[in-house]
Amino acid sequence: MKLYIETVGCQMNMLDSELVVASLRKDGYELTADVGEADTILFNTCSVRQHAEDKIYSALGRLKNAKRQHPDKVIGVLGCMAQKDQGLIFKRAPYVDLIVGPGQLHQVPELVREIRERGGQRMEVSLGRKDGSRHEIERSHESFDPLRDPTMRPTPFQAYVRIMIGCDKFCTYCIVPSVRGPEQSRRASHILAEARQLAGEGCREITLLGQTVNSYRHREGDRTWRMSDLLAALHEIDDLERIKFVTNYPKDMTNDLLAAVRDLPKVSKYLHVPVQSGSNAVLRRMKRGYTVEEYREVLARMREWIPGVAVTSDFIVGFCGETDDDFQQTMDLVRESRFKNSFIFKYSERPGTKGAELYADDVPDDVKRRRNNELLELQNQISDEENHAFLGREVMVLVEGPSKAAEKHGAAQRAESSPSPAFSEQLQLTGRTHCDRIVVFTGNRRQIGQFLPVVIYDANAHTLFGEVVTQHVGPELFTLS
Ligand code: SAM
Ligand code: SF4
Repeated sequence: MKLYIETVGCQMNMLDSELVVASLRKDGYELTADVGEADTILFNTCSVRQHAEDKIYSALGRLKNAKRQHPDKVIGVLGCMAQKDQGLIFKRAPYVDLIVGPGQLHQVPELVREIRERGGQRMEVSLGRKDGSRHEIERSHESFDPLRDPTMRPTPFQAYVRIMIGCDKFCTYCIVPSVRGPEQSRRASHILAEARQLAGEGCREITLLGQTVNSYRHREGDRTWRMSDLLAALHEIDDLERIKFVTNYPKDMTNDLLAAVRDLPKVSKYLHVPVQSGSNAVLRRMKRGYTVEEYREVLARMREWIPGVAVTSDFIVGFCGETDDDFQQTMDLVRESRFKNSFIFKYSERPGTKGAELYADDVPDDVKRRRNNELLELQNQISDEENHAFLGREVMVLVEGPSKAAEKHGAAQRAESSPSPAFSEQLQLTGRTHCDRIVVFTGNRRQIGQFLPVVIYDANAHTLFGEVVTQHVGPELFTLS
């Protein structure tokens, strides 16, 4: 049986897809990149912005004929859009067989089996945020963390590890608290067991995932685990060499966490701490829970406690009521904050959020687009300058694989059916520094998965270019006495 899966959205979705694929493999499925030959077609979806949903509905539209010709193909929609739109998906695409929310993914193999055997449509979603007591709603959003399968990851030496699900912050623009349910931290002992298993299988870098990862808190026996405690315990795992975590909530950036990042050498000196806007009026309407002044204080504290830390942010431009003056305040904040990079989004109204209920989406699209470009240009200029500070420096890189250019070249060669490249053949590789900067350099496939020292000789806003430092191995000198 062949499985085709397409994933849109955040790292949490990538992890969910990895785990769904692993569980279907146990049922005898093999992955295919060709949707035409697939027996089961799954879309793991995102509903953070309208654009992500449109993409999935048009992909579903393209499958209408395939399903008519091959009615035995099983088509499923998983994840956040499945939870948000529920039965509406069956209405818009009646040939879809399966709808499964992010809190029900453990049921996917059984549901696919049922549809194959008995036909019909199935839908499994979690309770909405007002559909029961907190406990009932929490129970209906189950964290999906089955045993890991190293063959399923894009690189076997890197893995995502979920440490919490859901979100309770309810920023007014955001659909995540509705579709991913209440904030629930996983047991520290389960996280540690998973990390030990991953390390035992050759994983060298883990990225801890949570919507507000630094709000992690879990009581087990008579001990309350904070994020800093978790990092300290993970740091003890021998074969693990690098630990990252995303995404941080500015208000929960406590000093014990900053001390952990500073003092634990395996923890990346990289913090993604989205501010969203540089205007207090906008932040208030977004209900982010902090002012620009408070964010500046957090940023100053991060820089003071962790010298050399790389900080990144997210921004939404064109949120309801954002004036030119509000936007200029965002530009000012970016100018002074010197983020390593920023992810910039045009506001997309999400039905069901407080923002959609309370405020008009009144910034025209061309203004949103112009602000987006202006902010991006400023951030790119800063990223370029910050990256140039690395010229001549030696950085430690975890080699992830062939660079995009090398992959393209390899694909073209394969299309011309040239023999596959020798293991020792030189090619362009890519990897990341301890502070999450992308580095491109020439090496060979054997080096993939290794940590290598690289000296940087060029840079642009997105990439550092370097050369592997080759250690001189000469004859040893010793004296006879
Ligand atoms: N939990 C994380 C946080 O609080 O920063 C991020 C979650 S969200 C999936 C990732 C980013 O998408 C947010 O930081 C925000 O910038 C953006 N985003 C969320 N809702 C949005 C919306 N309605 N329109 C545009 N961008 C949005
Ligand atoms: Fe959405 Fe805000 Fe929660 Fe992030 S913190 S997931 S932006 S509600």
